[in-house]
Amino acid sequence: MTILLSTLNARYTHASLGLRYLLANMGPLAPETRIQEFVIGAKTADVVERLLLHSPQIVGFGVYIWNVEETTKVVAMLKRVAPEVIVVLGGPEVSFETNEQAIARLADYVVTGWGDVTFPKLCAEILDGPKPLMKIHAGVQPPMAEIALPYALYSDEDIAHRTLYVEASRGCPFKCEFCLSSLDKTAWPFPLDAFLAQLESLHARGARLFKFVDRTFNLNVKTSQRIMQFFLDKLAANPEDPVYAHFELVPDHLPEPLKQTIAQFPPGALQFEIGIQSFNPEVQALVSRKQNNEKAMENIRWLCEHSQAHLHVDLIAGLPGEDIASFARGFDRLVSLGAHEIQFGILKRLRGTPIIRHTEPYAMVYDPAPPYTVLATGLIDFPAMQRLVRFARYWDLVANSGRFANTVRELLGVRPFENFMAFSDWIYTKTDATHRIALEKLAKLVVEWLQVTGMERDRAAALVASDYAGSVDGAGKSKEKDKTSVVAAPARQVRHLAA
Ligand code: SF4
Repeated sequence: MTILLSTLNARYTHASLGLRYLLANMGPLAPETRIQEFVIGAKTADVVERLLLHSPQIVGFGVYIWNVEETTKVVAMLKRVAPEVIVVLGGPEVSFETNEQAIARLADYVVTGWGDVTFPKLCAEILDGPKPLMKIHAGVQPPMAEIALPYALYSDEDIAHRTLYVEASRGCPFKCEFCLSSLDKTAWPFPLDAFLAQLESLHARGARLFKFVDRTFNLNVKTSQRIMQFFLDKLAANPEDPVYAHFELVPDHLPEPLKQTIAQFPPGALQFEIGIQSFNPEVQALVSRKQNNEKAMENIRWLCEHSQAHLHVDLIAGLPGEDIASFARGFDRLVSLGAHEIQFGILKRLRGTPIIRHTEPYAMVYDPAPPYTVLATGLIDFPAMQRLVRFARYWDLVANSGRFANTVRELLGVRPFENFMAFSDWIYTKTDATHRIALEKLAKLVVEWLQVTGMERDRAAALVASDYAGSVDGAGKSKEKDKTSVVAAPARQVRHLAA
Protein backbone atom coordinates (compact mmCIF):
# COMPACT_ATOMS: atom_id res chain seq x y z
CA MET A 1 0.00 0.00 0.00
CA THR A 2 1.31 3.39 -1.01
CA ILE A 3 -0.54 6.16 0.79
CA LEU A 4 -1.64 6.20 4.40
CA LEU A 5 -4.05 8.79 5.74
CA SER A 6 -3.73 9.26 9.46
CA THR A 7 -4.77 11.45 12.36
CA LEU A 8 -5.00 11.38 16.12
CA ASN A 9 -8.65 11.82 17.04
CA ALA A 10 -9.61 13.39 20.35
CA ARG A 11 -11.57 10.23 21.25
CA TYR A 12 -12.18 6.82 19.74
CA THR A 13 -15.82 7.78 19.18
CA HIS A 14 -14.81 10.65 16.88
CA ALA A 15 -14.45 9.18 13.40
CA SER A 16 -12.44 11.55 11.20
CA LEU A 17 -14.60 13.05 8.47
CA GLY A 18 -11.57 14.83 6.95
CA LEU A 19 -9.66 11.59 6.27
CA ARG A 20 -12.73 9.99 4.74
CA TYR A 21 -13.15 12.98 2.40
CA LEU A 22 -9.56 12.61 1.26
CA LEU A 23 -9.93 8.89 0.62
CA ALA A 24 -13.20 9.40 -1.25
CA ASN A 25 -11.47 11.89 -3.55
CA MET A 26 -8.23 9.98 -4.25
CA GLY A 27 -9.43 8.95 -7.74
CA PRO A 28 -7.07 6.42 -9.36
CA LEU A 29 -4.93 6.36 -6.20
CA ALA A 30 -7.84 5.21 -4.01
CA PRO A 31 -7.00 1.47 -4.26
CA GLU A 32 -3.53 2.21 -2.91
CA THR A 33 -4.74 4.41 -0.06
CA ARG A 34 -5.80 3.43 3.46
CA ILE A 35 -6.92 5.18 6.63
CA GLN A 36 -5.23 4.52 9.96
CA GLU A 37 -6.69 6.46 12.88
CA PHE A 38 -5.33 6.82 16.41
CA VAL A 39 -6.55 8.45 19.59
CA ILE A 40 -4.55 11.11 21.43
CA GLY A 41 -2.68 9.67 24.36
CA ALA A 42 -1.30 6.78 22.28
CA LYS A 43 2.45 6.16 22.67
CA THR A 44 4.43 7.88 19.93
CA ALA A 45 6.56 4.82 19.20
CA ASP A 46 3.47 2.61 18.95
CA VAL A 47 1.86 5.02 16.49
CA VAL A 48 4.99 5.13 14.34
CA GLU A 49 5.35 1.36 14.45
CA ARG A 50 1.77 0.83 13.36
CA LEU A 51 2.11 3.35 10.55
CA LEU A 52 5.21 1.62 9.24
CA LEU A 53 3.53 -1.79 9.31
CA HIS A 54 1.71 -0.59 6.18
CA SER A 55 5.03 0.21 4.43
CA PRO A 56 3.66 3.50 3.12
CA GLN A 57 5.48 5.72 0.64
CA ILE A 58 3.41 8.73 1.72
CA VAL A 59 1.74 9.44 5.05
CA GLY A 60 -0.79 12.28 5.15
CA PHE A 61 -1.59 13.61 8.63
CA GLY A 62 -4.69 15.58 9.60
CA VAL A 63 -3.42 18.21 12.05
CA TYR A 64 -5.79 19.94 14.46
CA ILE A 65 -5.46 22.10 17.54
CA TRP A 66 -6.06 19.08 19.79
CA ASN A 67 -3.44 16.83 18.21
CA VAL A 68 -0.68 19.12 16.91
CA GLU A 69 1.68 18.52 19.83
CA GLU A 70 1.41 14.73 19.67
CA THR A 71 1.44 14.67 15.87
CA THR A 72 4.64 16.73 15.92
CA LYS A 73 6.28 14.00 18.01
CA VAL A 74 4.96 11.31 15.67
CA VAL A 75 6.28 13.08 12.58
CA ALA A 76 9.66 13.72 14.24
CA MET A 77 10.07 10.05 15.14
CA LEU A 78 8.75 8.82 11.81
CA LYS A 79 11.25 10.95 9.90
CA ARG A 80 14.07 9.65 12.14
CA VAL A 81 13.34 5.96 11.74
CA ALA A 82 12.05 6.08 8.17
CA PRO A 83 13.31 9.25 6.47
CA GLU A 84 12.31 7.87 3.08
CA VAL A 85 8.59 8.11 3.95
CA ILE A 86 7.15 11.34 2.54
CA VAL A 87 5.08 13.25 5.11
CA VAL A 88 2.28 15.53 3.93
CA LEU A 89 0.38 17.65 6.45
CA GLY A 90 -3.09 19.13 6.17
CA GLY A 91 -5.84 20.43 8.41
CA PRO A 92 -6.76 23.77 9.98
CA GLU A 93 -3.85 23.91 12.41
CA VAL A 94 -1.20 23.91 9.67
CA SER A 95 -3.21 26.00 7.21
CA PHE A 96 -2.14 29.29 8.78
CA GLU A 97 1.15 30.60 10.17
CA THR A 98 2.55 27.46 8.57
CA ASN A 99 6.20 28.46 8.44
CA GLU A 100 6.27 29.23 12.15
CA GLN A 101 5.41 25.67 13.13
CA ALA A 102 7.84 22.94 14.14
CA ILE A 103 5.65 20.26 12.60
CA ALA A 104 5.74 22.00 9.22
CA ARG A 105 9.53 22.16 9.34
CA LEU A 106 9.65 18.40 9.92
CA ALA A 107 7.29 17.56 7.07
CA ASP A 108 7.97 17.32 3.36
CA TYR A 109 4.80 19.04 2.17
CA VAL A 110 1.85 20.94 3.60
CA VAL A 111 -1.56 21.38 1.99
CA THR A 112 -3.38 24.40 3.40
CA GLY A 113 -7.18 24.81 3.28
CA TRP A 114 -9.27 22.28 1.41
CA GLY A 115 -7.40 19.09 0.54
CA ASP A 116 -10.03 17.24 -1.52
CA VAL A 117 -8.41 18.05 -4.88
CA THR A 118 -4.94 19.23 -3.97
CA PHE A 119 -3.87 16.27 -1.80
CA PRO A 120 -4.47 13.59 -4.47
CA LYS A 121 -2.81 15.79 -7.09
CA LEU A 122 0.22 16.30 -4.86
CA CYS A 123 0.44 12.55 -4.15
CA ALA A 124 0.37 11.79 -7.89
CA GLU A 125 3.22 14.25 -8.47
CA ILE A 126 5.25 12.79 -5.59
CA LEU A 127 4.79 9.26 -6.91
CA ASP A 128 5.01 9.81 -10.67
CA GLY A 129 6.85 13.13 -10.98
CA PRO A 130 7.65 15.77 -11.77
CA LYS A 131 8.63 16.20 -8.12
CA PRO A 132 6.74 19.14 -6.60
CA LEU A 133 9.02 22.09 -6.08
CA MET A 134 6.99 23.99 -3.52
CA LYS A 135 6.66 22.75 0.06
CA ILE A 136 3.38 24.55 0.82
CA HIS A 137 0.43 23.97 -1.50
CA ALA A 138 -2.69 26.13 -1.17
CA GLY A 139 -5.71 23.83 -1.38
CA VAL A 140 -7.86 24.35 -4.45
CA GLN A 141 -11.56 24.72 -3.72
CA PRO A 142 -13.53 22.86 -6.40
CA PRO A 143 -17.24 23.27 -7.16
CA MET A 144 -19.11 21.42 -4.42
CA ALA A 145 -20.69 18.99 -6.89
CA GLU A 146 -17.20 17.80 -7.86
CA ILE A 147 -16.31 16.67 -4.34
CA ALA A 148 -17.02 12.97 -3.83
CA LEU A 149 -19.05 12.45 -0.67
CA PRO A 150 -17.32 10.19 1.86
CA TYR A 151 -20.16 8.61 3.79
CA ALA A 152 -19.90 5.14 2.28
CA LEU A 153 -16.46 5.02 3.91
CA TYR A 154 -17.96 4.90 7.39
CA SER A 155 -17.47 1.24 8.28
CA ASP A 156 -20.05 -0.92 10.03
CA GLU A 157 -17.97 -0.53 13.19
CA ASP A 158 -18.05 3.28 12.80
CA ILE A 159 -21.81 3.14 12.41
CA ALA A 160 -22.22 0.91 15.43
CA HIS A 161 -19.87 2.65 17.86
CA ARG A 162 -18.83 6.13 16.72
CA THR A 163 -20.32 9.55 16.13
CA LEU A 164 -21.09 10.02 12.45
CA TYR A 165 -20.12 13.51 11.35
CA VAL A 166 -21.93 14.81 8.27
CA GLU A 167 -22.04 18.18 6.53
CA ALA A 168 -24.62 19.65 4.18
CA SER A 169 -22.48 22.75 3.64
CA ARG A 170 -19.04 24.17 4.35
CA GLY A 171 -18.11 27.67 5.42
CA CYS A 172 -19.87 30.54 7.13
CA PRO A 173 -20.92 33.98 5.89
CA PHE A 174 -20.31 35.65 9.26
CA LYS A 175 -17.05 37.19 10.43
CA CYS A 176 -16.65 36.58 14.15
CA GLU A 177 -12.98 37.32 14.60
CA PHE A 178 -12.22 34.54 17.08
CA CYS A 179 -13.46 31.87 14.65
CA LEU A 180 -11.62 30.24 11.75
CA SER A 181 -14.84 30.08 9.75
CA SER A 182 -14.84 33.88 9.65
CA LEU A 183 -12.22 33.60 6.89
CA ASP A 184 -14.65 31.77 4.60
CA LYS A 185 -16.82 34.84 3.97
CA THR A 186 -19.61 32.63 2.66
CA ALA A 187 -21.11 29.17 2.97
CA TRP A 188 -21.12 26.59 0.16
CA PRO A 189 -23.87 23.95 0.12
CA PHE A 190 -23.36 20.42 -1.18
CA PRO A 191 -25.97 19.32 -3.74
CA LEU A 192 -28.84 18.46 -1.44
CA ASP A 193 -30.33 15.43 -3.20
CA ALA A 194 -26.98 13.67 -3.36
CA PHE A 195 -26.37 14.46 0.30
CA LEU A 196 -29.78 13.16 1.38
CA ALA A 197 -29.21 9.99 -0.62
CA GLN A 198 -26.05 9.43 1.44
CA LEU A 199 -27.97 9.98 4.68
CA GLU A 200 -30.54 7.49 3.45
CA SER A 201 -27.96 4.80 2.86
CA LEU A 202 -26.26 5.48 6.21
CA HIS A 203 -29.63 5.11 7.89
CA ALA A 204 -30.33 1.90 5.99
CA ARG A 205 -27.00 0.56 7.28
CA GLY A 206 -28.07 1.26 10.87
CA ALA A 207 -26.80 4.79 11.57
CA ARG A 208 -28.95 6.56 14.17
CA LEU A 209 -26.74 9.36 15.57
CA PHE A 210 -25.89 12.13 13.12
CA LYS A 211 -23.79 15.14 14.03
CA PHE A 212 -23.93 17.95 11.48
CA VAL A 213 -20.75 20.02 11.40
CA ASP A 214 -22.28 22.80 9.27
CA ARG A 215 -21.35 26.05 10.98
CA THR A 216 -24.74 27.67 10.41
CA PHE A 217 -27.32 25.00 9.71
CA ASN A 218 -30.29 27.41 9.65
CA LEU A 219 -28.93 29.81 7.04
CA ASN A 220 -31.07 28.48 4.23
CA VAL A 221 -34.43 27.64 5.74
CA LYS A 222 -35.68 25.53 2.83
CA THR A 223 -32.59 23.34 2.98
CA SER A 224 -32.79 23.06 6.77
CA GLN A 225 -36.41 22.03 6.50
CA ARG A 226 -35.73 19.34 3.93
CA ILE A 227 -32.98 17.85 6.06
CA MET A 228 -35.13 17.95 9.17
CA GLN A 229 -37.99 16.41 7.23
CA PHE A 230 -35.70 13.51 6.38
CA PHE A 231 -35.34 12.82 10.10
CA LEU A 232 -39.03 13.41 10.83
CA ASP A 233 -39.92 10.84 8.16
CA LYS A 234 -37.56 8.31 9.74
CA LEU A 235 -39.04 8.97 13.18
CA ALA A 236 -42.57 8.58 11.87
CA ALA A 237 -41.79 5.39 9.97
CA ASN A 238 -39.97 3.76 12.86
CA PRO A 239 -40.67 5.30 16.26
CA GLU A 240 -39.23 2.24 18.02
CA ASP A 241 -35.86 2.74 16.34
CA PRO A 242 -35.43 6.52 16.48
CA VAL A 243 -32.75 8.80 15.07
CA TYR A 244 -30.92 11.63 16.81
CA ALA A 245 -29.52 14.67 15.00
CA HIS A 246 -27.28 17.48 16.20
CA PHE A 247 -27.17 20.87 14.42
CA GLU A 248 -25.37 24.19 15.01
CA LEU A 249 -27.69 27.18 14.74
CA VAL A 250 -27.23 30.92 14.57
CA PRO A 251 -29.54 32.13 17.34
CA ASP A 252 -31.27 35.10 15.76
CA HIS A 253 -32.61 33.38 12.66
CA LEU A 254 -35.56 31.09 13.28
CA PRO A 255 -38.35 31.90 10.84
CA GLU A 256 -41.83 30.53 11.46
CA PRO A 257 -41.70 27.62 8.94
CA LEU A 258 -38.51 26.34 10.58
CA LYS A 259 -40.09 26.62 14.02
CA GLN A 260 -43.04 24.57 12.81
CA THR A 261 -40.70 21.84 11.62
CA ILE A 262 -38.66 21.87 14.83
CA ALA A 263 -41.80 21.66 16.96
CA GLN A 264 -42.69 18.30 15.37
CA PHE A 265 -39.66 16.48 16.79
CA PRO A 266 -40.27 14.23 19.80
CA PRO A 267 -38.03 14.37 22.89
CA GLY A 268 -34.58 12.88 22.51
CA ALA A 269 -34.35 13.29 18.73
CA LEU A 270 -32.82 16.73 18.28
CA GLN A 271 -29.95 18.73 19.73
CA PHE A 272 -29.09 22.31 18.86
CA GLU A 273 -25.77 23.94 19.58
CA ILE A 274 -26.33 27.69 19.63
CA GLY A 275 -23.49 30.19 19.77
CA ILE A 276 -24.20 33.31 21.80
CA GLN A 277 -20.55 33.92 22.77
CA SER A 278 -21.31 37.34 24.30
CA PHE A 279 -24.42 39.39 24.97
CA ASN A 280 -22.39 42.60 25.25
CA PRO A 281 -23.06 44.73 22.11
CA GLU A 282 -19.72 46.55 22.41
CA VAL A 283 -17.82 43.27 22.58
CA GLN A 284 -19.85 41.89 19.68
CA ALA A 285 -18.95 44.94 17.61
CA LEU A 286 -15.27 44.66 18.55
CA VAL A 287 -15.06 41.07 17.34
CA SER A 288 -17.33 41.72 14.32
CA ARG A 289 -20.04 39.39 15.54
CA LYS A 290 -23.41 40.39 14.15
CA GLN A 291 -26.16 39.26 16.48
CA ASN A 292 -29.59 40.59 17.33
CA ASN A 293 -29.61 39.89 21.07
CA GLU A 294 -33.34 40.41 21.54
CA LYS A 295 -34.17 38.08 18.68
CA ALA A 296 -31.64 35.53 19.89
CA MET A 297 -33.18 35.52 23.38
CA GLU A 298 -36.68 35.30 21.99
CA ASN A 299 -35.70 32.30 19.85
CA ILE A 300 -33.93 30.45 22.67
CA ARG A 301 -36.93 31.05 24.90
CA TRP A 302 -39.21 29.77 22.14
CA LEU A 303 -37.08 26.64 21.71
CA CYS A 304 -37.15 26.00 25.47
CA GLU A 305 -40.90 26.42 25.69
CA HIS A 306 -42.21 25.03 22.41
CA SER A 307 -39.71 22.44 21.22
CA GLN A 308 -38.41 19.20 22.70
CA ALA A 309 -34.89 19.86 21.43
CA HIS A 310 -31.95 19.59 23.74
CA LEU A 311 -30.26 23.01 23.80
CA HIS A 312 -26.56 23.54 24.23
CA VAL A 313 -25.67 27.24 24.22
CA ASP A 314 -22.12 28.59 23.95
CA LEU A 315 -20.60 31.57 25.75
CA ILE A 316 -16.96 32.66 25.54
CA ALA A 317 -15.11 34.24 28.47
CA GLY A 318 -12.06 36.44 27.88
CA LEU A 319 -13.15 38.24 24.71
CA PRO A 320 -11.52 41.65 24.20
CA GLY A 321 -13.46 44.40 25.95
CA GLU A 322 -15.41 42.02 28.22
CA ASP A 323 -14.85 42.16 31.98
CA ILE A 324 -16.16 39.67 34.51
CA ALA A 325 -19.22 41.75 35.40
CA SER A 326 -20.28 41.92 31.75
CA PHE A 327 -19.68 38.19 31.27
CA ALA A 328 -21.65 37.48 34.45
CA ARG A 329 -24.63 39.48 33.16
CA GLY A 330 -24.60 37.46 29.93
CA PHE A 331 -24.32 34.20 31.85
CA ASP A 332 -27.26 35.09 34.10
CA ARG A 333 -29.32 36.03 31.08
CA LEU A 334 -28.64 32.69 29.47
CA VAL A 335 -29.46 30.78 32.65
CA SER A 336 -32.77 32.63 32.86
CA LEU A 337 -33.69 31.42 29.37
CA GLY A 338 -33.53 27.80 30.51
CA ALA A 339 -31.19 26.11 28.01
CA HIS A 340 -30.18 22.60 29.09
CA GLU A 341 -26.44 23.20 28.85
CA ILE A 342 -24.31 26.33 28.82
CA GLN A 343 -20.94 25.64 27.29
CA PHE A 344 -18.66 28.09 29.06
CA GLY A 345 -15.56 28.29 26.89
CA ILE A 346 -12.42 30.34 27.42
CA LEU A 347 -11.25 32.29 24.37
CA LYS A 348 -8.58 30.66 22.23
CA ARG A 349 -6.44 32.43 19.69
CA LEU A 350 -6.79 30.05 16.78
CA ARG A 351 -4.09 30.33 14.15
CA GLY A 352 -5.16 32.57 11.29
CA THR A 353 -8.05 34.25 13.09
CA PRO A 354 -8.30 38.05 12.86
CA ILE A 355 -8.74 38.47 16.62
CA ILE A 356 -4.98 38.93 16.75
CA ARG A 357 -5.55 42.61 15.91
CA HIS A 358 -6.83 43.17 19.46
CA THR A 359 -3.80 41.68 21.19
CA GLU A 360 -2.01 44.92 21.99
CA PRO A 361 -4.92 47.36 22.44
CA TYR A 362 -6.70 44.98 24.83
CA ALA A 363 -3.59 43.54 26.49
CA MET A 364 -4.52 40.01 25.47
CA VAL A 365 -2.07 37.36 26.75
CA TYR A 366 -2.38 33.92 25.19
CA ASP A 367 -0.78 30.63 26.07
CA PRO A 368 1.80 30.03 23.31
CA ALA A 369 1.06 26.28 23.45
CA PRO A 370 -2.06 24.71 21.95
CA PRO A 371 -4.94 25.33 22.41
CA TYR A 372 -3.65 28.92 22.77
CA THR A 373 -6.10 29.80 25.55
CA VAL A 374 -6.24 33.40 26.74
CA LEU A 375 -4.45 33.69 30.09
CA ALA A 376 -5.23 37.33 30.87
CA THR A 377 -6.69 40.43 29.29
CA GLY A 378 -6.53 44.09 30.19
CA LEU A 379 -9.83 43.61 32.02
CA ILE A 380 -9.36 40.12 33.50
CA ASP A 381 -6.03 39.38 35.18
CA PHE A 382 -4.45 35.93 35.34
CA PRO A 383 -5.78 34.93 38.80
CA ALA A 384 -9.31 36.00 37.79
CA MET A 385 -9.01 34.05 34.53
CA GLN A 386 -7.94 30.99 36.49
CA ARG A 387 -11.10 31.31 38.59
CA LEU A 388 -13.12 31.41 35.37
CA VAL A 389 -11.34 28.32 34.05
CA ARG A 390 -12.23 26.43 37.24
CA PHE A 391 -15.81 27.74 37.11
CA ALA A 392 -16.09 26.33 33.58
CA ARG A 393 -14.78 22.94 34.68
CA TYR A 394 -17.05 22.63 37.73
CA TRP A 395 -19.97 23.93 35.68
CA ASP A 396 -19.43 21.07 33.30
CA LEU A 397 -19.22 18.52 36.12
CA VAL A 398 -22.18 19.76 38.11
CA ALA A 399 -24.57 21.60 35.77
CA ASN A 400 -23.90 20.39 32.23
CA SER A 401 -23.53 16.77 33.30
CA GLY A 402 -27.25 16.74 34.12
CA ARG A 403 -26.52 14.75 37.28
CA PHE A 404 -27.63 17.52 39.65
CA ALA A 405 -30.50 19.10 37.73
CA ASN A 406 -32.76 19.96 40.69
CA THR A 407 -29.87 20.88 42.94
CA VAL A 408 -28.37 23.26 40.40
CA ARG A 409 -31.53 25.36 40.33
CA GLU A 410 -31.28 25.77 44.09
CA LEU A 411 -27.56 26.34 43.98
CA LEU A 412 -27.84 29.14 41.40
CA GLY A 413 -30.68 31.02 43.06
CA VAL A 414 -31.36 34.49 41.70
CA ARG A 415 -27.69 35.32 41.06
CA PRO A 416 -26.42 32.31 39.09
CA PHE A 417 -22.94 33.53 38.20
CA GLU A 418 -22.13 34.94 41.62
CA ASN A 419 -23.49 31.92 43.46
CA PHE A 420 -21.81 29.36 41.24
CA MET A 421 -18.51 31.26 41.43
CA ALA A 422 -18.72 31.11 45.23
CA PHE A 423 -19.33 27.35 44.98
CA SER A 424 -16.47 26.99 42.50
CA ASP A 425 -14.01 28.87 44.75
CA TRP A 426 -15.11 26.81 47.76
CA ILE A 427 -14.92 23.40 46.09
CA TYR A 428 -11.46 24.21 44.77
CA THR A 429 -10.21 24.98 48.27
CA LYS A 430 -11.71 21.68 49.46
CA THR A 431 -10.34 19.45 46.70
CA ASP A 432 -7.42 21.30 45.17
CA ALA A 433 -8.54 19.63 41.93
CA THR A 434 -10.79 20.22 38.96
CA HIS A 435 -10.46 16.73 37.49
CA ARG A 436 -10.85 13.19 38.71
CA ILE A 437 -13.46 13.99 41.34
CA ALA A 438 -15.55 10.84 41.73
CA LEU A 439 -19.28 11.39 41.35
CA GLU A 440 -20.01 10.19 44.88
CA LYS A 441 -17.47 12.58 46.36
CA LEU A 442 -18.83 15.40 44.24
CA ALA A 443 -22.35 14.70 45.50
CA LYS A 444 -21.15 14.83 49.12
CA LEU A 445 -19.39 18.12 48.46
CA VAL A 446 -22.54 19.58 46.89
CA VAL A 447 -24.52 18.57 49.99
CA GLU A 448 -21.87 20.18 52.19
CA TRP A 449 -21.91 23.40 50.15
CA LEU A 450 -25.69 23.66 50.35
CA GLN A 451 -25.30 23.55 54.14
CA VAL A 452 -22.64 26.27 53.98
CA THR A 453 -25.23 28.41 52.18
CA GLY A 454 -27.70 27.80 55.01
CA MET A 455 -29.72 24.79 53.89
CA GLU A 456 -30.57 22.26 56.54
CA ARG A 457 -28.61 19.00 56.17
CA ASP A 458 -31.51 16.62 55.59
CA ARG A 459 -33.04 18.88 52.95
CA ALA A 460 -29.71 19.23 51.15
CA ALA A 461 -29.17 15.46 51.17
CA ALA A 462 -32.72 14.81 49.96
CA LEU A 463 -32.33 17.34 47.17
CA VAL A 464 -29.13 15.78 45.86
CA ALA A 465 -30.64 12.29 46.28
CA SER A 466 -33.64 13.34 44.19
CA ASP A 467 -31.27 14.04 41.31
CA TYR A 468 -29.80 10.57 41.52
CA ALA A 469 -33.29 9.09 41.53
CA GLY A 470 -34.01 10.84 38.24
CA SER A 471 -30.73 9.90 36.60
CA VAL A 472 -30.29 7.50 33.71
CA ASP A 473 -28.19 4.46 33.12
CA GLY A 474 -26.72 4.38 29.65
CA ALA A 475 -28.05 6.06 26.55
CA GLY A 476 -31.70 6.05 25.91
CA LYS A 477 -33.25 4.51 29.02
CA SER A 478 -34.58 6.81 31.71
CA LYS A 479 -35.05 5.00 35.02
CA GLU A 480 -37.70 7.19 36.47
CA LYS A 481 -39.39 9.61 34.19
CA ASP A 482 -40.54 7.48 31.37
CA LYS A 483 -39.92 3.78 31.49
CA THR A 484 -41.44 3.11 28.10
CA SER A 485 -39.84 5.66 25.78
CA VAL A 486 -36.83 4.76 23.70
CA VAL A 487 -34.59 7.51 22.35
CA ALA A 488 -31.32 7.51 20.46
CA ALA A 489 -29.95 10.54 22.34
CA PRO A 490 -26.72 10.19 24.35
CA ALA A 491 -27.10 9.67 28.13
CA ARG A 492 -26.18 13.24 29.12
CA GLN A 493 -28.91 14.70 26.91
CA VAL A 494 -31.43 12.17 28.18
CA ARG A 495 -30.65 13.23 31.76
CA HIS A 496 -31.37 16.87 30.90
CA LEU A 497 -34.60 16.07 29.13
CA ALA A 498 -35.73 13.88 32.02
CA ALA A 499 -35.01 16.57 34.66
S1 SF4 B 1 -18.68 31.86 15.34
FE1 SF4 B 1 -20.28 30.85 14.16
S2 SF4 B 1 -21.31 32.52 13.07
FE2 SF4 B 1 -19.34 33.33 13.75
S3 SF4 B 1 -17.95 33.00 12.00
FE3 SF4 B 1 -17.76 31.23 13.38
S4 SF4 B 1 -19.17 29.72 12.57
FE4 SF4 B 1 -19.74 31.70 11.69
